[in-house]
Amino acid sequence: EREQLKALAGAPAVTKAGKPIILAANIGKPEDAGQAIANGAEAIGLFRTEFLYMDRASLPGEEEQYRAYRQVAEQMAGKPVVIRTLDIGGDKHLPYLPLPEELNPFLGFRAIRLCLERKDIFRSQLRAILRASAHGDIQLMFPMIGAMAELRAAQEFLRQCMDELQAEGIPFNERIAIGMMIEIPAAAVMADEFARQVDFFSIGTNDLIQYTLAADRTNEKVSHLYDPMHPAVWRLIRTTIEAAHREGIWCGMCGELAGDPQAIPALLEYGLDEFSMNPGAILAAKKIIINS
Ligand code: PEP
Ligand code: MG
Repeated sequence: EREQLKALAGAPAVTKAGKPIILAANIGKPEDAGQAIANGAEAIGLFRTEFLYMDRASLPGEEEQYRAYRQVAEQMAGKPVVIRTLDIGGDKHLPYLPLPEELNPFLGFRAIRLCLERKDIFRSQLRAILRASAHGDIQLMFPMIGAMAELRAAQEFLRQCMDELQAEGIPFNERIAIGMMIEIPAAAVMADEFARQVDFFSIGTNDLIQYTLAADRTNEKVSHLYDPMHPAVWRLIRTTIEAAHREGIWCGMCGELAGDPQAIPALLEYGLDEFSMNPGAILAAKKIIINS
């Protein structure tokens, strides 16, 4: 079985109808890129950058981040690498970045909300990502966007960082692709408007499910309500994919649902273009795609 799957590593992921699908890997550390390649990943669909900030005593500097992002870009040798900007807060905390006590941390000060207030942290990460973009197909993705004003603020600040690098004569890809996660129901509902402002979407079902169903993804008492197959979740997924295609951008998924064998055939039917998952799930997903 495992051997049979291994043989698929080099095969293209194309559906019976002839649609090529991007099978991508989620990684959390530069070292994980090797595993992604070994499993035939055609891209890194989600590079969670939190690891760079955790288990340490202070913020990582621009240089250190640049080296980590560049390492992944070079290892992927021209294949796309989607780097997600810092998603801290919620259930993830940093010892050196004290955050206010919150009654509802998942509804509170996390991810892009924090980065837009801590421009010092945001700047060093954006500069590091931009600099690394000179060494491969790096794409940038903002997490937890719920309002157009947030997306605009993030894009404006990114533009400012680009201008600074340019003035300093530091090379980067001026046409770097910019995407956003769809993981807040409001963003899914308004996907048509967001699709006009970005180059791609990636649906984050882990959060999209918890916010749609008001069921904390970490709370066992309500885990029976956290239902990935709930029709409300699937309507939002469909809305998102259709809006993306109407506006001419691609739509991927990097939440757990993307690697769920039960979900993949329906996601293909909905027209999902890219599936990003734990490297260990890629070959089984490819088998389903080839037979769909
Ligand atoms: C998601 O919410 O689906 C996702 C991919 O992001 P994370 O699990 O890191 O919140
Ligand atoms: Mg998320």
